[in-house]
Amino acid sequence: MALRVLSVASEAVPLVKTGGLADVAGALPAAVAPHGIAMTTLLPGYPAVIAAIGKAKRVHTWDALLGEPARLLTAKIGDTPLLILDAPGYFERPGNPYTDAAGKDWGDNWRRFAALGRAAADIASGAVKALSCDVLHAHDWQAAMAIAYLRFAPFRSEPRIPTVMTIHNMAFQGWFDPRVFGSLELPAPAWSIDGVESYGGVGFLKSGLQLADMITTVSPTYAGEIVRPEFGMGLEGLVALRGDRVRGIVNGIDSNEWSPETDSALAARYTARTVAKRTANKRALEKHFGLDEGDGPLFIMVSRLTWQKGADLIPEVLDHLVGNGGRLAILGSGDPAIVAALQDGAARHPGKVGLQFGYDEALSHRMQSGGDAILVPSRFEPCGLTQLYGLAYGCVPVVTRTGGLADTVIDANPAALAAGVATGVQFDGAHYHGLASAISRTIALYGQTPVWKQIQHNGMAADFSWRRSGAEYARIYQQLAGDSA
Ligand code: ADP
Repeated sequence: MALRVLSVASEAVPLVKTGGLADVAGALPAAVAPHGIAMTTLLPGYPAVIAAIGKAKRVHTWDALLGEPARLLTAKIGDTPLLILDAPGYFERPGNPYTDAAGKDWGDNWRRFAALGRAAADIASGAVKALSCDVLHAHDWQAAMAIAYLRFAPFRSEPRIPTVMTIHNMAFQGWFDPRVFGSLELPAPAWSIDGVESYGGVGFLKSGLQLADMITTVSPTYAGEIVRPEFGMGLEGLVALRGDRVRGIVNGIDSNEWSPETDSALAARYTARTVAKRTANKRALEKHFGLDEGDGPLFIMVSRLTWQKGADLIPEVLDHLVGNGGRLAILGSGDPAIVAALQDGAARHPGKVGLQFGYDEALSHRMQSGGDAILVPSRFEPCGLTQLYGLAYGCVPVVTRTGGLADTVIDANPAALAAGVATGVQFDGAHYHGLASAISRTIALYGQTPVWKQIQHNGMAADFSWRRSGAEYARIYQQLAGDSA
């Protein structure tokens, strides 16, 4: 019989997405299915989710889930079974899953996502008939309290369900004022350094890391980095302490969504053999962004515009990029100061720098298909997906040597070029000089057409499907289930 895994996440494609977590949570069920894993995904019932699932069957009711009435609905998107936590008091709100329309965190995020965790623990431990599972997998701080509830709340399941905690980004930890502890309905012993307490408050991600049977993060390099203060952000000691339980598994990409051969968003579809067809996509992109037409390299960036992503470096480096014959198209949203600096920079370079602020999934596909190179100058990057999409689409990634970027891009240094294995450009240190010299190198490589073609080819031939990573997750679930049997 298939092993039943309950995956708990605050977002998942195609229903709700603010970042890479959604891509991963959405793709995981199909990635592990071939390995004998039956995965069900539990998601909050945001308005977009409730609208998308249409008529759904109610399978459980809570009169008061940490104080609010809630219902559990079952639904299916494609082949993926879903459980939706329909709790209007928590989730029926405008804005995005975590913030109001002005971008401010909801003040009760601790209660909203503790409720998600509590519901997950109820389900996993058999409180909801016919829905129990063999392993619980929590993604990021929003799902982490499921693990604390399973550990501390008096549940009937015996033995305890084994748990996996996945860190998609250590920078988001879900840390809250100690006063919230009294409302979490956890027993007093949970308030301890071995439980949910963290630096004097309640740490949601910390709880998951403390109490999970297995911890994963989304690349081997990031798994090594987060034992250092500059990446662990306060939790490095705990990660180090639990080191024998930590694994790094690189995210795959969903080739149903991301393949230039079948992508319906593109002006022209292509394969590695017909890569010249990308030119039509480049022309379409230039038009969309109001850029001068040209054969020089067109850089793109699709990103949250934040310090983590090194987006603040882009305004500084624009003169260098344009001065050396490059053009740049950016799709992103985020930090208002970065947005303003980009607008200033674009005004200095009419026809050379194009900006679109906001979120646009279809355009993000078109950019990968028409851009020549994608900039990913992140200060830290647990895995990163846009460089993987770049590889698949022949849009050469230019990345900092950190986290998943280090693991997935092979720098076009002389040795890699000689061996014919280069897939992109890497540079050390997210700062002006690192990025500027990487841009210069990229432009020089672009000028050597056969070399550039080889780099594009290598990237397109690289296998970043979920095949290998799906098998690794499945192995972890099976091992945990075997240990607890
Ligand atoms: P993170 O999750 O840290 O934001 P990732 O690279 O892991 O970074 O994932 C980002 C995902 O969000 C990718 O799928 C990327 O294409 C997408 N994305 C980011 N910004 C935008 C945007 N403005 N419009 C459309 N898609 C975007």
